[in-house]
Amino acid sequence: MKKISKDLVDVSNLKAHAYLHPHPLDPDSYADIEVDWFSWIPGFDSRDLGDEDEEPLFRDNNIQLYNKIEEIAVERFNAALENVWPLLDSLLINNLSITIDVTGDISGPSALASYLYDHSDPQKGNYFFSLAPSYLHKLLVASNNGTELDLKYHTTWEHEFIHLIDHRSIEKSSVFRHSNLSIDCLRCYIVNYRDEGIPELYYLLKGGWPEIKNVQMALDKFTICLAEAKQKCSASTELTYKQKQEVLKTYDFYELGPWIVLNMLKTFEGGYHEELITSVIEQVEAGKVIEHDVILQVLEIALRIKPDEFILTYS
Ligand SMILES: [Zn+2]
Repeated sequence: MKKISKDLVDVSNLKAHAYLHPHPLDPDSYADIEVDWFSWIPGFDSRDLGDEDEEPLFRDNNIQLYNKIEEIAVERFNAALENVWPLLDSLLINNLSITIDVTGDISGPSALASYLYDHSDPQKGNYFFSLAPSYLHKLLVASNNGTELDLKYHTTWEHEFIHLIDHRSIEKSSVFRHSNLSIDCLRCYIVNYRDEGIPELYYLLKGGWPEIKNVQMALDKFTICLAEAKQKCSASTELTYKQKQEVLKTYDFYELGPWIVLNMLKTFEGGYHEELITSVIEQVEAGKVIEHDVILQVLEIALRIKPDEFILTYS
């Protein structure tokens, strides 16, 4: 077990590990594994070499590829860990595991990576993540071609680490997600702008999100989206799973959330951060990339926004 100190960056000692799931060499999952599940992976050799040939899943070159995939996954993960290190101050870390989700069964269809908060336990220092096929594909292509990843893929793990730091609040918000009451669905809808907005703030401040250009644009769109969500939630006191999905399945949380969070930070904690936040907003609206240390400072403040406080502000 390691306790993180923000002054001492010690990523390699944390020994994050990634493993393929399913793994062809894992005897527990061996019997059911199909070559087709792996054939989409760049570099996987799925040729049919005739009767004498061994299973493609156990070819030496493919076994080397499994190891390479696990190495690449940890490499970018560790780089991200270093980027957000000061935010992890005082956190206990025992185990950081990444499940490389080859079949896409663990990740949602649009996810690149996930922090699996319901499997993680901050008290024991155990944290679990998954890496989705779409992101693995990007990582492998970039590695094979020696090219740089787009900013989106360069901030994916940072986004997930911010979820980890925000663990307690996500747990609280999940109560709304699991409720069938329409009032809770609306609360869940609103708080998602906080829960995804804070991690996505990292991407915005690094120069992401070209569509929404300023706080006003975001607030205008948010007002329209919120009215629609209220309308859908007012249909009855309880909602079916499908009705809930219709309210909650949207990318607006990611696109608008960071701006909505920034807007709240102007008056947050008695307006104490107004000068800093106003200056950051001005720079982002002018299309500038914010300095890394300032980004961490803003995130540290944003992570103090309590879910209830956020819901109350924007209800
Ligand atoms: Zn997220």
